[in-house]
Amino acid sequence: MANNTGDNSINQILDLDALPMILQQIHQEVINEYGQGNVADYIPGLAQVDPQQFGMALRTVDEQEFTVGAADTAFSIQSISKLFTLMLALDIVGEELWQRVGREPSGMRFNSLVLLDSEGGIPRNPFINDGAIVVTDVIAARSAAPARRIEEFIASLSGNDSNRIDQQIAAGEQATGFRNVAIANLLKGMGNLEAEVEQTLDCYFKQCAITMSCRDLARAIECLANRGKSHFKSSFHAEKMDKRINSLMLTCGLYDAVGNFAYNVGLPAKSGVGGGIVAVCPGQYTVAVWAPELDRYGNSVLGQLALEKLTSYTHTSIF
Ligand code: GLN
Repeated sequence: MANNTGDNSINQILDLDALPMILQQIHQEVINEYGQGNVADYIPGLAQVDPQQFGMALRTVDEQEFTVGAADTAFSIQSISKLFTLMLALDIVGEELWQRVGREPSGMRFNSLVLLDSEGGIPRNPFINDGAIVVTDVIAARSAAPARRIEEFIASLSGNDSNRIDQQIAAGEQATGFRNVAIANLLKGMGNLEAEVEQTLDCYFKQCAITMSCRDLARAIECLANRGKSHFKSSFHAEKMDKRINSLMLTCGLYDAVGNFAYNVGLPAKSGVGGGIVAVCPGQYTVAVWAPELDRYGNSVLGQLALEKLTSYTHTSIF
């Protein structure tokens, strides 16, 4: 039985009175660890970001919000966008999507091309770049203005109309994203892209360049903690999304570091090379954390540490 007093029960109910102090403590502890990673300098717009920043926002399913640090600073969501395009693509084509992309971890770097060729052009999962490009292609092939559609969808989920594409970051990645160009061409060559390569890639680079704050992100993923319900969006069919998407996040959300993350944190989560990580505690809360220094897997160093401390201090790992 869940309670908030003993140490023996799993997945405890959050003690909201203690939470502000716990977040302060996490903040103080993690900022001592600055300097252990690097910003994503392979994307020109991200190379300039001040590496030593930290923000965190936690939102309970009954709409209480707790923040610490730069929780309202907008940053580049990068691969966290893959979560939203997956929701949208599933909403558009349903289970048909799984004929074009798998649901297994890849054990490879997020932008690897290695498995794609040997596995017949079917990406392992929707969160690595090849899989995400297929997911984006579903939207690109069925929308007059796909990037705009994704932008609007995300802004509606977070309830914040200023969650927009940073065109400079998108253009920078467009100019240097040679691996993604290679992936998209391979997908096209193997018959797994419907739209034109340029059209799908343009949309992919733009979705990655959307900027949001930790607070907006915690709001935007509310449906994943709350059995599909969200205070911000009504028209999207989110009913079964939580089980499907949380399981994929748990197994694929942090690429080839996902096992360590599950071990240390124990929540479904999705990271991006902008330094953000979002995580879901089903039935209880969503949380977003941002700290731009990345480890060699492309995941935020302090973000992972902060989430590990959060689930340890609050006993809210799902395990
Ligand atoms: N835009 C980035 C890329 O495609 C996203 C990668 C990430 O956040 N892991 O390389």
